[in-house]
Amino acid sequence: MDSDWVARFADDVIAEAERRAPGKPIVCASGLSPSGPIHLGNLREVMTPHLVADEIRRRGLDCVHLLSWDDYDRFRKVPAGVDPSWAEHIGKPLTSVPAPPGSSHESWAEHFKAPMTAALAELGVTYRGISQTEQYTSGAYREQILLAMRERERIDAVLARYRTRQTGDAPQPKPYFPYRPYCELCERDSTTVTAYDDDTTELAYTCACGFGETVRLAEHDRGKLVWKVDWPMRWAYEGVVFEPSGVDHHSPGSAWVVGEPIVREVFGGEQPIGPMYAFVGITGMAKMSSSKGDVPTPADALEIMEAPVLRWLYARRKPSQSFKVAFDQEIHRLYDEWDALGRKVAGDTAQPAELAAYERATRTAEGPLTGTERAVPYRALASIVDITTGDGEQILRILGDLDAIASLDEARPRLDRAQRWVDTQLPADQRTHVREAPDDELLGSLGEDDREALRLLADGLDEHWSLDGLTTLVYGVPKLRAGLAADAKPTPEVKTAQRAFFTLLYRLLVGGETGPRLPTLLLTVGADRVRKLVGR
Ligand SMILES: [Zn+2]
Repeated sequence: MDSDWVARFADDVIAEAERRAPGKPIVCASGLSPSGPIHLGNLREVMTPHLVADEIRRRGLDCVHLLSWDDYDRFRKVPAGVDPSWAEHIGKPLTSVPAPPGSSHESWAEHFKAPMTAALAELGVTYRGISQTEQYTSGAYREQILLAMRERERIDAVLARYRTRQTGDAPQPKPYFPYRPYCELCERDSTTVTAYDDDTTELAYTCACGFGETVRLAEHDRGKLVWKVDWPMRWAYEGVVFEPSGVDHHSPGSAWVVGEPIVREVFGGEQPIGPMYAFVGITGMAKMSSSKGDVPTPADALEIMEAPVLRWLYARRKPSQSFKVAFDQEIHRLYDEWDALGRKVAGDTAQPAELAAYERATRTAEGPLTGTERAVPYRALASIVDITTGDGEQILRILGDLDAIASLDEARPRLDRAQRWVDTQLPADQRTHVREAPDDELLGSLGEDDREALRLLADGLDEHWSLDGLTTLVYGVPKLRAGLAADAKPTPEVKTAQRAFFTLLYRLLVGGETGPRLPTLLLTVGADRVRKLVGR
C-alpha cells in the first residue's frame, strides 16, 4: 500500500525518525481530554496517528502510538445535566473530581475515559495510554519542570514574540512562571506563584482560598506546566515524531505555533510532523434517549455502524478533508458505497487508493477486524427490522428468502447495528406500517390497466422471489403493459408508468405514497400477504 495519504505520511515519519533517533522505536502521539463525553469529532485525533503507526508496523518496524489522557487538566465547568453542586470542584484536576452521580467510576476522568477506551478497543486501535496525572504526580517530569522554571524568561520572551503579533492579548502577569501548583489545601489551581529560587528550588505560592506555602519544587509533585509549555515538553520527553492536531491549535500564538520555538530553544527537541486535521461533523443524530447528553461519541457511532465502516471514513479522507458521519438515512448510502467497494475489492477492480483504504478499514497490523459473514445491504436490513418490528423469527424467514441465510448470526453484527439504527434514529413518522387488510375502496376504483398490472405482479412473485428478481419484476410490469420486453430500455412514457405503478403499490401495501424500496418491502411482507393486499 504505497498509494494513499497514510503511506506517504509513514514514509515521511520513518525518514524523520531515522534522522532524529536511529534504531529507536518510532513514536506517534495523540492527546485527549476526558473533561466530558469525548466527541466523535475528536476520534480523528486518535485515528490519524493510529493509521500511520499501523502502516509503519505493517512494514515490520517498531512503532508506538502514545495516547496522552490530559486528566491532570483542571475541571473547567459543570456540563448541563450534572448536579450543579459539582461546581465546588472547578479548578481541581479531572482525576480529583468525583464521577457524575450514578457512575461506577472512581473519578470524573475515569468516567469519560472508559467508553472511549472501549470504543478504541472495538476499532482495533492499539496504543500505550499515558495518564498525565500519573506522570506529574510521580515526578516523571521533574527535570523538565525545573528546566522550564530556569528558562522561564526565555519562554516568556518566546510567548511575547507571538503576543506582539496579535492585538488585544492581555499581558502576562509578571514575573512569569510556566508552572502552576494545585493548592495543597483546596486542590484547586487558583494559585499564584509569588517567588521562586533557582538554587534551592523553593517556590512560594498563595491560593484564592487563603492558603499559602513554600515548597521545594525539586520534591513537589502537585502541579503542572502550563499547556503551551507542557505540550512541547512532552514532544521532547517522549520523542514524538508524528502528532496531528485540530485546526484550533494552528492559529497565530496557539500552542502548536509557540510550541516549535519552545521545544527547540528550551527543551532541545524538535516539533513533530503534525498535519492539521479538518473538522468531522455529524448528520442528523436523533435526540438520543440516553443520559449521555446530546454529544455524539464514537460509542454512539459504533452502535449503528460496524467498526470497519467507521475506520473507513477516517482512512479514505486525507486529514485536511472534512467529512460527516451519518446518523440519518445517509448511512444507507454510506453502506451501499462500502458494499460496492467490497465487491470491487473481491473482483480485483478497486483502484490502488480505494484498496488501501479498504485494507486499513478491515484489518490492522495485528490482524483482521470482526466483519459480517453475510453482508445483506444495510438499507434492506433496516427495512426488514422496521417492518417486522424486530421479530427474530420473521427476520430469519425473510433473510432465508433473501439470501439463503440460515441463522441470524450470519447477518450479525451488521443486523444488530441496523436494528439499533431503527430503534434510535428512524423517526416514528417514517416507520413503515404494512396494511392489515386490503384497501377495498382503492382496489374497487382501479381501472382495467391497473388491475392487469397487479395481476402480472402477483403472478410473477414466486418466480421472482429474490431481491434482484423482484427488482426486475416491479420495473418490468409497466414495460410489459407497454408492449416492451422486461429487459428493454424504458421510454419516458414507461418511466412515468413505473412511477405511477410504484405509488399504487405503496398505497396498497403501506397506505402511503412512499416507503422502503419495493423489492425489500415485497420480500418482507411475504408473497401471500402481498397477493391479498393487491386483491389477487
Ligand atoms: Zn486553595
